[in-house]
Amino acid sequence: MGPAVELVADCSACVGLCCVGLGFRTSAEFAFDKEPGQACQHLAEDFRCGIHDRLRGRGMAGCTTFDCFGAGQVTTARFAEAAQDGRLDGPDWRTPAVAGEMFAAFAVLRRLHEALWHLDHAAAREVDDEIRQEVARVRDSVAAQAAGEADELLRIDVDVSWRNVAPVLAAVSEQVRTEIREDPADLRGTDHAGADLRRRDLWAANLRGAVLVGSDLRGADLRAADLAGADLRGARLDEADLRGALYCTQAQLEAARGSARTQLPEGVHTPGHWA
Ligand code: SF4
Repeated sequence: MGPAVELVADCSACVGLCCVGLGFRTSAEFAFDKEPGQACQHLAEDFRCGIHDRLRGRGMAGCTTFDCFGAGQVTTARFAEAAQDGRLDGPDWRTPAVAGEMFAAFAVLRRLHEALWHLDHAAAREVDDEIRQEVARVRDSVAAQAAGEADELLRIDVDVSWRNVAPVLAAVSEQVRTEIREDPADLRGTDHAGADLRRRDLWAANLRGAVLVGSDLRGADLRAADLAGADLRGARLDEADLRGALYCTQAQLEAARGSARTQLPEGVHTPGHWA
């Protein structure tokens, strides 16, 4: 396995890249419109969010469900170094000539870091040697891309990178789930928006890309379920059991509702707003 890469966001070391580079529209998740490249009205001079401790109450729940997987601070550091070496006209987006390149590099790096987070998650599962080696090989290749300078990042087709990552993640998922349950449910990409799934047996189910928006999963058995890319916005997870679930991100949980009695997989924590 290649070198460790910082995959946890450190907003204190970032120049507010998500709060400037990304745009959003007025909706249940955002209280106002913001164009990509325009600094959010709540972003302070020190790049801190002025309403960080009350985002939901101020209609900005969407900000709580975004995760850069550490790409923000890494992009910030890489551009600062390039400016120091005289390779850029300024260290960050406040220099107009740098802004476009910086936001584009951040977008690429974010998806590479997201891939690395999933690959590290896959590497922690019990699988046979052949799959383990394939996970390590793909991870090394993505880590090498993520280590590139800004101009190199901008030449990466990140969709192609993910096309190499996705089958490896799926292979790990398949082996883990079929080891513990014969013929687990295959619900990939299925739509359960608003569905009553209370106490449903979804043990080891493949819910990759499933739409679970607003679904009622209270008390559901989601142990070892594959949740890669599942849309859990507004889903009820109170007393659900997600122990051992695959590819369950903190951002997915932040978008859902649950309680202190929801049982979570390793690597994530109970969102503050669930209390
Ligand atoms: S509300 Fe805060 S976290 Fe959300 S975009 Fe604005 S500054 Fe960033």
